[in-house]
Amino acid sequence: MSSAGELEYPQILLDYKHGFLVSKIMFTACELGVFDLLHELEESASAATIATRLNTSVDGMERLLNACVGLKLLKVDLKNNEGCYSNTDVSAVYLVKSSPRSLYHTIMYYNQTIYMCWQYLTQAVREGKCQNQRAFGTSSQEIFEALYRSEEDMVAFLHAMDSIWKICGRDVIQAFDLSAFRTVCDIGGCTGALAKQFLSTYNESTVTIMDLPQVVKTAKKYFVTDDKRIHFLEGDFFNDPIPEADLYIMARIIHDWTDEKCLELLRKIYQSCKPGGGVLIVETLLNEDKSGPICSLVFSLRMLVQTEGKERTPSEYSKLLTDSGFRDIEVKVTGKLYDAILARK
Ligand code: SAM
Repeated sequence: MSSAGELEYPQILLDYKHGFLVSKIMFTACELGVFDLLHELEESASAATIATRLNTSVDGMERLLNACVGLKLLKVDLKNNEGCYSNTDVSAVYLVKSSPRSLYHTIMYYNQTIYMCWQYLTQAVREGKCQNQRAFGTSSQEIFEALYRSEEDMVAFLHAMDSIWKICGRDVIQAFDLSAFRTVCDIGGCTGALAKQFLSTYNESTVTIMDLPQVVKTAKKYFVTDDKRIHFLEGDFFNDPIPEADLYIMARIIHDWTDEKCLELLRKIYQSCKPGGGVLIVETLLNEDKSGPICSLVFSLRMLVQTEGKERTPSEYSKLLTDSGFRDIEVKVTGKLYDAILARK
């Protein structure tokens, strides 16, 4: 029910109306390198200095910097009557590209790929299908053909996938005691970022990362790991054999595909899984009544625009798992971006 105050002045609608403008301010400051420059300078700097260093107009830069101050992404102090800007603690840790916990690459993926795709949300809802052909001009709707248009696009996507696990990885890996699982296969494991988190907790295991051949080659080229417990396997999880393992990690895999394809993949995994083994699904869970969380609802629309899949409720995941043969399903909502489901053979 709306309150009298909301009917008089619809603050919530005004906030939603410019939500994407706020995002774009953060994206632009990242893209122009504002946070990186302020980190490099190690002291506050004026709009004129920042504009000169980043090759922008002074007026445009000053407005951008002030908007960032308003959004608490930057701080400003007056020196000789001139505003001097510096990073906030959060920006220093998460927006500076070189920071170990940087979200820079995820933000650039939103700024480029997702921003472009969401121009077609209306068409996606009308047609009930992804918009890769419209957004990227690719010859097919195929999800990963669109994301991997060039090596540069692939590296950008891999960076975006990689960065989030430095922040949320431990929560999903430690949601259950997985210490009994010694041979692990990360299905669609990309650069191995979650595998590294797994091994930092369960250091006696080994992890095979299975991904498409071009992804494995790119991951080896740009995301070097010297951890001898990590092995890469080039393969197509729909068409090639799945290696035998005690535990299969499937992080952000199920949400890309239709129920039919998920069942096909989960049944294949069940066949390869050692008795007593299991599968760990890592996704953003929807509430059972699909009333939230808002982030999962937004992600589900993202999946509509870009993939064949959707976000699902715990019961929907449980049904896919039981229909593939798995049992003893446990669900852990972590309170962070990603949740975990463990099922056993
Ligand atoms: N699991 C990783 C994570 O959470 O960061 C990556 C998730 S990403 C959404 C999906 C991954 O599945 C990509 O790395 C993609 O290359 C891989 N993938 C897609 N189709 C595949 C296939 N047919 N066989 C193997 N890997 C595939």
